[in-house]
Amino acid sequence: NRRIVLAARPRGLPTTQDFRLEQAPVPEPADGQVLLRTLYLSLDPYMRNLMEEGGTSYAPAVPLGEPMVGGTVSRVVASRHPGFHPGELVLGNTGWQDHALSDGSDLTPLAETAQPSLALGGLGMPGFTAYVGLLDIGQPRPGDTVVVAAATGAVGAVVGQIARLKGARVVGIAGGAEKCRYAVDELGFDACLDHRAPALGERLAAACPDGIDVYFENVGGAVFDAVLPLLNIGARVPVCGVIAHYNDQQPPPGPDRRPQLMTTVLQKRIRLQGFVILDHYGERFEAFRRDMQAWLDAGQLKLREDRVDGLENAAEAFIGLLEGRNFGKLVVRVADA
Ligand code: NDP
Repeated sequence: NRRIVLAARPRGLPTTQDFRLEQAPVPEPADGQVLLRTLYLSLDPYMRNLMEEGGTSYAPAVPLGEPMVGGTVSRVVASRHPGFHPGELVLGNTGWQDHALSDGSDLTPLAETAQPSLALGGLGMPGFTAYVGLLDIGQPRPGDTVVVAAATGAVGAVVGQIARLKGARVVGIAGGAEKCRYAVDELGFDACLDHRAPALGERLAAACPDGIDVYFENVGGAVFDAVLPLLNIGARVPVCGVIAHYNDQQPPPGPDRRPQLMTTVLQKRIRLQGFVILDHYGERFEAFRRDMQAWLDAGQLKLREDRVDGLENAAEAFIGLLEGRNFGKLVVRVADA
């Protein structure tokens, strides 16, 4: 039974030395437990925050020497729980390991489908994040200009496509020409800009001649700097993530821009609202699942998965996620279905 544990707290961008692959015996389920075999492991940006001492407001830090946490699609191998049977497919949170035990409280049964890993992406947490953040907080109206960065990623690609379905004009921001081409040609965005090329602010202004009504914040950093002056009066800014800052060791150098930020928020009457998707499952997940399935069935929305083979490659793939090397929702195939 292989597992990948947190070996050290990273300084800046994690390195493969911050993780350690260990062997342990396959555990035996006790009364009331199930033994699970991981098929797919989700890799997500929040994991970087849980590598830090102290963790976050929504989850504790991964202890040193313990397996990295993560969402998983698994098969029940053995069960001493009345609600689960061997062979069943479940969504869980068993982390970066081949096998795990669960008391069932955090497991959701999954139907057998051609692509069960979608439960970790478009039909799961990242898709739900896009749905709640955009529709409930961003509230796009037909004709609005919606801007989203990490535009071909797990969350961003869904944000842009839902915004388009709601009649908005969608401008993506992504890393590199290939991702930008995909956002326009395949996802139907109206425009997409490469944030690695020069003069992002000028190019964004040209791509948003009527300003920005909704900015779905995935990134922070230089992208937010380019967006801020273009926000319209009454703009909504769902603050979903600031991945450009997850590796920061200290505040960036340069002038203090808080006055400019707060003055803009005030004068433009901007609604800036953070959210953590864990809070919303109770009241919104069913609506999301119904709408998302309908959009997929009607061919109105595309999901792209970036699949890496082998648990042993999880650390390298996760580091790549923080650097923009993933192209679509990043999952690790740990074992064959
Ligand atoms: P993605 O699949 O979008 O992968 C991350 C992407 O971020 C990279 O591919 C890269 O895309 C982009 N990126 C990384 N560093 C930078 C940078 N310095 N500047 C600009 N872009 C950068 O990940 P997710 O869709 O899973 O997550 C997107 C965001 O949503 C994250 O901030 C995440 O923390 C947040 N999130 C928040 C949740 C919540 O409950 N609030 C729940 C789920 C996700 P590119 O190459 O295009 O630049």
